[in-house]
Amino acid sequence: MLTARRAEKGTSAYGKDWPRKRESFLYMNAWCVLCGQPSKVADHFPVSRKNLLKRGVTDPNAHEHLRALCVRCHNGETGRNQAGGVVAERRRQSQAQREWQHWTEKREAESEEPPF
Ligand SMILES: [Zn+2]
Repeated sequence: MLTARRAEKGTSAYGKDWPRKRESFLYMNAWCVLCGQPSKVADHFPVSRKNLLKRGVTDPNAHEHLRALCVRCHNGETGRNQAGGVVAERRRQSQAQREWQHWTEKREAESEEPPF
């Protein structure tokens, strides 16, 4: 049982093509999506590889199922808060949206004339 669990984490258990897929993914996504440090880990995200397989996804190693992480973020994220990256991303987006809206309203309030 222990051996099986260890094998599951190993590279070969991810399939023959995984080392190549991982390498090309990290080549194209050179920076950790959470902190901007050089990426070292191709993390299955937001759905774990196991769940992708359960859903019948034919290629769970496809780049669309991965995100680039550095070792530190990967170790901090795994098993704790898998959605962290996405939530942070949404928060950034909505803040930018609010700023844009605020700016637009201010412009409209200050001037009766359209700016162009
Ligand atoms: Zn990181």
